[in-house]
Amino acid sequence: MTDGSGSWYDADIDHVIITEEEIREKTAALAKQVASDYATVQDGLLLVCVLKGAVMFVADFARALGRHGPPVELEFMAVSSYGQGTTSSGVVRILKDLDRDIAGRHVVVVEDIVDSGLTLSWLLKYLESRAAASVEVVALFRKPDAIKVHVPVKYVGFDIPSEFVVGYGLDFSERYRELPYVGVLKPEVYARV
Ligand code: 5GP
Ligand code: MG
Ligand code: MG
Repeated sequence: MTDGSGSWYDADIDHVIITEEEIREKTAALAKQVASDYATVQDGLLLVCVLKGAVMFVADFARALGRHGPPVELEFMAVSSYGQGTTSSGVVRILKDLDRDIAGRHVVVVEDIVDSGLTLSWLLKYLESRAAASVEVVALFRKPDAIKVHVPVKYVGFDIPSEFVVGYGLDFSERYRELPYVGVLKPEVYARV
């Protein structure tokens, strides 16, 4: 970045998949839908954000929900899939567990992206074993592979192509999370690491 405009990382992006504006509109629409589906819950909603990728989305989604109600509480979980290379194996290790008991609560898992769905499938079983009253999922992005494993994702933002994307929480090697849009990296970026 030399002229003070744009982000430091813009030069690394080959093309944008979903713009900042599209994310904002979709987040508002998803929040409206969730708010109406849970309008009558007595004790509010428990949002479970899966770190780290969903952190931008949960922040915007929770604030959008705040305009329509019901009240929400935030919980965070961090998990890691024991996988070979870049594909997840479905065997999951908890790095950070819930801080509170979720028994009897209406839970909405907030996910960045569903790819194979293996991590999410494990997580849903785990949350159900903790006796939540209900568990649904909102995922901002979904890739075509997600249909191979049956994971019931009730609320989906965007179906995107099977390409590796970064931005709006999604990283490559812990970078690019702060981009306000989602895009594909230039091939030479991978050659740099
Ligand atoms: P799954 O178990 O569904 O295959 O893995 C999902 C997780 O892998 C997502 O929550 C996300 O952290 C990561 N992931 C999947 N696709 C992408 C992608 O295109 N870009 C990035 N940065 N992470 C991804
Ligand atoms: Mg995730
Ligand atoms: Mg990652």
